[in-house]
Amino acid sequence: MINDVHCHFFSTRFFEILGGQLSTAEDDTFTTLPERLRWDAPGSPEELADRWVQTLDANEVGRAAVMASLPGDEASVGTAVRRHPGRLVGMTMFNPVAPDADVRIRTALEDERLRCVCLFPALHGYPLDDEAVDRVFAAAATAGAVVFVHCGVLTVGVRKKLGLPTPVDVRLGDPLALIGTATRNPEVPVIIPHFGGGQLRSTLMAADLCGNIHVDTSSSNGWIRYTPGLTLEAVFAAALETLGPERIVFGTDSSFFPRGWQLTVYERQRTILETLGVETAAEEAIMAGNFERLFPAGTPDR
Ligand SMILES: [Zn+2]
Repeated sequence: MINDVHCHFFSTRFFEILGGQLSTAEDDTFTTLPERLRWDAPGSPEELADRWVQTLDANEVGRAAVMASLPGDEASVGTAVRRHPGRLVGMTMFNPVAPDADVRIRTALEDERLRCVCLFPALHGYPLDDEAVDRVFAAAATAGAVVFVHCGVLTVGVRKKLGLPTPVDVRLGDPLALIGTATRNPEVPVIIPHFGGGQLRSTLMAADLCGNIHVDTSSSNGWIRYTPGLTLEAVFAAALETLGPERIVFGTDSSFFPRGWQLTVYERQRTILETLGVETAAEEAIMAGNFERLFPAGTPDR
């Protein structure tokens, strides 16, 4: 059994919002941008949701968390989740210091019933010990939602391919700045993706102090090249040592079609767990069980 905690839902609306950030005024970016990227056009949220379920089926994946990958696209993911509630869990990128933050988080958690609020402090320019982050945790606690916090190095693949600049202050993605808020909200599960994205040591320190901090294993984890000699095997071993298998959650960072669900990420990580001699129960927790605990299936109304 496999569940995937980290996927991106690149909807038609996503491309419209992204197109609005281009310097050239185009009003049909929802078709031209996927063409420029040589990606399949997403179609309606329902069609894209069906496509996701097809790729999950083809790879025998049970459930996946899919992210609205720009603020303003919550409704597309809400539609997808309502269409396939047993297979898809909704997440959304959220900017807690934006003027419309109050409305956006209500839309995400109450109207669209998304279950994870995703923070990108390096992208939106606020420190993780800002009181705006406290408000996110309070809203998540009320809704029974999870908070995802992108730390470390941040590149946005789709923006890079389109030649869109992505100004980021990577220093703001500091896991240590999360310790206070995570400690004050022990009931709110936190996911730091990509083992901290280059901030492995700080992520392990924060997770050692805060029992609610999890890591996801998603993407190719290309950040390991910043530490000479570091291997993904060693990263898994260190995470297992400090967090244990209960707080490591498998993810791929799958995003666009026709590529679909990223089997190669799974195969590589599965091999690593076997090489490390991780027991079956622990492997099942990482690959599926922890996801089920964070996002219980069949929760009424959610
Ligand atoms: Zn991602």
